[in-house]
Amino acid sequence: MLRNDQLAEWDRENFFHPSTHLAQFARGEQCNRVIRGGEGVYIEDRDGTRMLDAFAGLYCVNIGYGRQEVAEAIAEQARELAYYHAYVGHSTEASITLSKMILDRAPANMSKVYFGLSGSDANETNIKLVWYYNNVLGRPEKKKIISRWRGYHGSGLMTGSLTGLELFHKKFDLPLEQVIHTDAPYYFRRQNLEQTEAQFVESCVASLEELIEQEGADTIAAFIGEPVLGTGGIVPPPTGYWEAIQAVLKKHDILLIADEVVTGFGRLGSMFGSDHYGIEPDIITIAKGLTSAYAPLSGSIVSKNVWKVLELGTDEFGPIGHGWTYSAHPIGAAAGVANLRLIDQFDLVTNAKDTGAYFNATLKEALSDLPIVGDVRGEGILAAVEFVRDKDTRQFFDASEKVGPQIAAALLQRSKVIGRAMPQGDILGFAPPLCLSRQEADLIVGAARDAISDVAENLL
Ligand code: PMP
Repeated sequence: MLRNDQLAEWDRENFFHPSTHLAQFARGEQCNRVIRGGEGVYIEDRDGTRMLDAFAGLYCVNIGYGRQEVAEAIAEQARELAYYHAYVGHSTEASITLSKMILDRAPANMSKVYFGLSGSDANETNIKLVWYYNNVLGRPEKKKIISRWRGYHGSGLMTGSLTGLELFHKKFDLPLEQVIHTDAPYYFRRQNLEQTEAQFVESCVASLEELIEQEGADTIAAFIGEPVLGTGGIVPPPTGYWEAIQAVLKKHDILLIADEVVTGFGRLGSMFGSDHYGIEPDIITIAKGLTSAYAPLSGSIVSKNVWKVLELGTDEFGPIGHGWTYSAHPIGAAAGVANLRLIDQFDLVTNAKDTGAYFNATLKEALSDLPIVGDVRGEGILAAVEFVRDKDTRQFFDASEKVGPQIAAALLQRSKVIGRAMPQGDILGFAPPLCLSRQEADLIVGAARDAISDVAENLL
């Protein structure tokens, strides 16, 4: 086995890490943490430090770590047939079974699933499908995509453009011109503090209407949104938001893409966020929870309406010119089948609902009185704590103070609990595996209170 210092050196010398301060990492100023194992909600690094992962990796290890059933399914598939492609009608038993399992669980009016590898490539697929759809319908001008500020949809060229976070645009010449952004349904950060939630929803709807008016509905193909804003701050929508937004989209014949990469397969305590909020999307993006990240796999679930037009298109223009070598990779599909079976077997969606409600309630109760806690919010087994310098005036900290990252670091250092400092604003996010127990929830809550109190003492 390699020595830790040897690994750290090779890591710095050879490995280009995603979403990392490259210069600091190369200089050895950033943590170098090599993870070697995991069990349930815990992971362990090479030094033997055991940590409670209250963010399930990147909110993806929904069934928890170390599930042998999935490992076995992957191994069995690899032994039998590690790969065959899915082009021109080829498939494997695993990919056929998984597509049926997904459709059996999907919201009403869904028709087919296209498989990719990541949330980003699934959303790239979705935008191509929406463009194709409008070309087949003879509406070549109807191409722009509306997404929300603070939405997260990936980091490709198109999907990085859809993502409404500055960090993902800066110095990359993004967003591309076909993408336009509208308001985030982020009530806590509303401009006008006097606004009620209902008035705030009205203002979100009004600014969407205005944007559509200004650009012209006949130039806009689709609206993409996460049922609950994720990476942009973990923000459940205000009451009535989705219903009102969908009414505007329907009026202007604009398709709705529900990006359920985080919310799909149980995170909100419902199988899909669309059902949770009564959304009727035209396309649904899935990834993370589809395999609980035991293997890379994503999907675009298309509705009957969209499918009909895609079929028409291929009758007119020939086979669809869109495919990845690894579309419907058998190992990913086998992992997906085993994962969805475990979710059913252990009723993890119900646990996400019940333990999630308990976790959110205890978190609110334990943290709300702390002087720098401005908001505690969540849905299902997803939660966030947002920090402010002054609760009465809702004055935020300066970004340079790095309050969110400081608190996440204190949480890990003091209690060996992993929460995530969200990339924009001082927000500590939690998205534990769906199998979390109440005792583990208590542990996270206690640790969060200690870490926040410690950091607050030095700030105020
Ligand atoms: N959509 C959403 C809602 C996401 O949260 C993410 C990833 N965090 C993506 C898309 C992109 O997925 P990936 O990182 O697998 O490309």
